[in-house]
Amino acid sequence: MIMEIERSLLATLPTGLYIDGRWRDSSTGSRFAVDDPATAEELTTVADASPDDARAALDAAVAAQESWAATPPRVRGELLRKAYEAVIARVDDFALLMTLEMGKALPEARGEVAYGAEFLRWFSEEAVRIDGRYTTAPDGASRLLVLKKPVGPCLLITPWNFPLAMATRKIAPALAAGCTTVVKPAALTPLTTLLFAQILDEVGVPAGVVNVVPTSGAGAATGPLIADPRLRKLSFTGSTEVGRKLLEQASTNVLRTSMELGGNAPFIVFEDADLDAAIEGAVAAKLRNVGEACTAANRFYVHEDVADEFAQRLAARFEAKRVGRGTEDGVDLGPLIDEAGRDKVTALVDDAVRRGATVVTGGAALPGAGWFYRPTVLAGVPEDAEILSEEIFGPVAPITTFRSEDEAVALANGTDFGLISYVYTRDAARMLRIPERLESGMLGINSGVISNPAAPFGGVKQSGLGREGGHEGIDEYLETMYVGIGGL
Ligand code: NAP
Repeated sequence: MIMEIERSLLATLPTGLYIDGRWRDSSTGSRFAVDDPATAEELTTVADASPDDARAALDAAVAAQESWAATPPRVRGELLRKAYEAVIARVDDFALLMTLEMGKALPEARGEVAYGAEFLRWFSEEAVRIDGRYTTAPDGASRLLVLKKPVGPCLLITPWNFPLAMATRKIAPALAAGCTTVVKPAALTPLTTLLFAQILDEVGVPAGVVNVVPTSGAGAATGPLIADPRLRKLSFTGSTEVGRKLLEQASTNVLRTSMELGGNAPFIVFEDADLDAAIEGAVAAKLRNVGEACTAANRFYVHEDVADEFAQRLAARFEAKRVGRGTEDGVDLGPLIDEAGRDKVTALVDDAVRRGATVVTGGAALPGAGWFYRPTVLAGVPEDAEILSEEIFGPVAPITTFRSEDEAVALANGTDFGLISYVYTRDAARMLRIPERLESGMLGINSGVISNPAAPFGGVKQSGLGREGGHEGIDEYLETMYVGIGGL
């Protein structure tokens, strides 16, 4: 049931397309529904962008590109800084909205507002630090000037699991670099991006710099944009399956791409680990966002000497979590995003059990409305269980044991993915050795959550291309130009 405070927030929300600084209906007049995953009830509807609307958004981005690139970096930075402050000032609205459309519990949603807003602050500071260089050629005969220029109009496609942070992680560096954008939010969670567009409008981001086109026809709306030679960059966060298709499409125009794709994170607990810290980290790495995170620990490899204790203690922590609608006081874990998401988790757990895994706690969906799944610990998961090779995207911790560091490394690397790994150990030499041995773009040592706007986020292997955040994040939106100067 929708409460009064929720109804009044929904009543004031923009639900149109945001193109060229104006809110519009879809050219076809059609709209699509956004549902609450905790109740499966409709929250509201939003305008459904057609391919023509998407093209109008690109037209606006192309028209605004030259003047935005010429806008002083300090001015671009200060607009981002104002946006940061405006988002923080509306933390309650953003948090409630994300809880409503995506399901995560309110305290987590508030955490995402802080994390997502931080990209605006970070890149407001990076806007004025875009540098180049001027050097003498080794033979002394000429000078080498290297300069950085904005890539140009960008298409930014975001997933549903972090509705604010995945948008700000792309929009902030694009704007800081001097690029204009067309943003295609996930159809399941477009409301947060629309509210963010309203904030950008209010703080004075010029018309055409950010355009937002929610659509129920992702491929039909974005395909023509990717094929349009005026588009200069595609940044995508989502599944590896869709990312692969988009890379294929992007190859026609040799489009610059950034791909933040799926993960299959190993969480390794060595026999010398501080077990209290490992349990704390495991709870965070597994249950953050109800396990619906690309960084979620997906495979727990625990040394056989400590595996039983680890499983029992993790199960006790999972059992203490309250599952419910994320807006309710005291709820720790909300629902999964939709029926398909919940059914996938059910199928993976059932497959593991069929192959011999033991359910230490949980192991089933919750009955009733909404897409809830019990926090689950599985022990003795055999290597051929699908759950070890698929991204679970749910609150399930499958545990497997190992005996040696070599075995743990081989298990961890035995996947096509390479986004993030976690390692718990107190051995200083191992802490230095392990980063060189693990095939992942990121590694948490004695830490279960390492995402940070000041650090480069991204994967290797089929987890993606490019980095978001850190000093590296803005480079994704800059071209390098070399000018050779002779005749001096
Ligand atoms: P998804 O199904 O791949 O969708 C991601 C986005 O792509 C959505 O906006 C979606 O639109 C759009 N899309 C789908 N098919 C498309 C097509 N043919 N052409 C253009 N756009 C298309 O992924 P998801 O289920 O939303 O998100 C979960 C996945 O994202 C997981 O695999 C997770 O690991 C990954 N992820 C990665 C990172 C990272 O930084 N590496 C961060 C967060 C999530 P619709 O909503 O309309 O389908």
